[in-house]
Amino acid sequence: MKRKYIIITGGVLSGLGKGIAIASIGKLLSHDYKVVPIKCDGYLNVDPGTMNPIEHGEVFVLDDGGEVDMDFGHYERFLNVDCKVDWNLTMGKVFNEIREKERKGDFLGKTVQMVPHVSNFIRNRFIEIGEDSKADIELIEIGGTIGDMENELYIDAVRSLARKVGKENVLFVHLTYVPIPFGVDEQKSKPTQQSITLLRKRGIEPEIIIARCSEMLNGKIKNKIASTSNLNNEEIITGIDVDDVYKIPLVFENQGLSQLLARKLNIPIKADLTRWNELIKNKEEAKKEINIAIAGKYTSLEDSYASIIEALHHCSAHFLVKINVKWIDTSEEDIDLTDVSGVIVPGGFGSRGTEGKIKIIQKCRENKIPFLGICYGLQMAVIEFARNVCNKSSANTTEVDENCEYPVIDILPEQKKIINKGGTMRLGAYPAIIKKDSLVYSLYGLDQISERHRHRYEVNPKYHDLLEENGLILSGLSPDGSLVEFIELENHPYFVATQAHPELKSKLEKPAPLFKGLIKAAIKYSEQSELPYQPPILEELRIDEDFVRIDESLEEDEGFGEAENSFEEFENGFRESHL
Ligand code: GLN
Repeated sequence: MKRKYIIITGGVLSGLGKGIAIASIGKLLSHDYKVVPIKCDGYLNVDPGTMNPIEHGEVFVLDDGGEVDMDFGHYERFLNVDCKVDWNLTMGKVFNEIREKERKGDFLGKTVQMVPHVSNFIRNRFIEIGEDSKADIELIEIGGTIGDMENELYIDAVRSLARKVGKENVLFVHLTYVPIPFGVDEQKSKPTQQSITLLRKRGIEPEIIIARCSEMLNGKIKNKIASTSNLNNEEIITGIDVDDVYKIPLVFENQGLSQLLARKLNIPIKADLTRWNELIKNKEEAKKEINIAIAGKYTSLEDSYASIIEALHHCSAHFLVKINVKWIDTSEEDIDLTDVSGVIVPGGFGSRGTEGKIKIIQKCRENKIPFLGICYGLQMAVIEFARNVCNKSSANTTEVDENCEYPVIDILPEQKKIINKGGTMRLGAYPAIIKKDSLVYSLYGLDQISERHRHRYEVNPKYHDLLEENGLILSGLSPDGSLVEFIELENHPYFVATQAHPELKSKLEKPAPLFKGLIKAAIKYSEQSELPYQPPILEELRIDEDFVRIDESLEEDEGFGEAENSFEEFENGFRESHL
């Protein structure tokens, strides 16, 4: 089969859910084909790694260490693929490469122009990605809204892609918006017609239109859109507002989208959404409810913790329980955990709100409230333990207090030399060795696992012994034993933290083990909170699933890439800076 390309552009306004739309199209195809998603962002940042999560949402991290747009979270969750950093194009990356080529002399004698040089470069990149990944179908999402200046080169690239690979192998899908203005109470097609005109001006004729609307499109409006865009009514699909984005593949399929795609691309497609459908029903039919608190700094914007929320959704379907998220702003004084059955302290940066997080963790530890610490959450849990159990009241992370007396969390010596901010953290998938008799082991069911990371600081190896002597279980370490990856406590229903971000790999069909552990414990806690505390039986929490297989190539810890030092040097670095 010749490789097919499905391109999605957006019209009228931003935020219509192009990422979900393309992920849902991919879901329909991924049963039969290898589907590779590509996202094109117009900004000049090289990646979103240095962008404020409040403005841009979560930075999604891939196995290969790429920091990419949060749409990759949807792609991976819907398509079950491990994406690659090169699949996220940004104008920052494109211009960097073009300028390097120009300096090397690749364009010698020529004037390097936006069109054709830059747009052809982008088009060729689409083709190369298809070849390298051996994709059957490439899904290309063009960021922004048609007419945005910053995305024009991508639009020109997909226009010329159709000429290069053959029109029959390229399918243009346009996502637009049909408003029902208050007082008019009628579905309106004009914005859609106008955005189609904008596409046509750029040489693109959409073949499928997905119209976001609060109601199913009526026949009249379908006729209108279809006739002005030279399409048939069945080529106009409603992207109806839903309360759960996982329903979108079903919404599309109910309107015959997979067979429409099959006809357009001239390939057989048999979308199988049986399991997906079942899981969504589970969520809907959940009778029991629990409250889970997320205690973080960016709680004003849920998008900053998108993957955590998704991981909770996955558990909700798995355990048939409705999970209400209670946001706790840790920079505020009053922290009330009375109505929660579990607490997540998520990743974070900087000092604001850290004392609040430490206080919450102390409450969880002392009152046996199920707790999951993620990245900064692990670091805060270690500080809390050092202060209140090991009696090192001035323990801290050097991220907050550079000269603290007990730097139980400290920056790696190698990281200290780095001044650039972009892409310089410990990023991507790293393996961990799990202690066989630990709770973490019983959750993963494996003694070697791999999870994704995004951080600069680590539990200071100088304090491993002190923490262990006082009862903190270091349940997972990097293969050379130098870095703490998981911690847990005995005599607590669920007190687990990880330096990694397990939420990034959670899927509807396979929720992340540590989240499953938390929710299982939280359900029990909500039922038993009246009763005296009973220590959990490990077997009870055990979740028998082969979740994260270690990648053979990662068996040897590659640590921090070329800059990696041996453990000895690592320790010396700590000594130099702290003794
Ligand atoms: N700020 C911490 C670090 O850099 C934790 C980062 C995170 O939570 N992602 O190590």
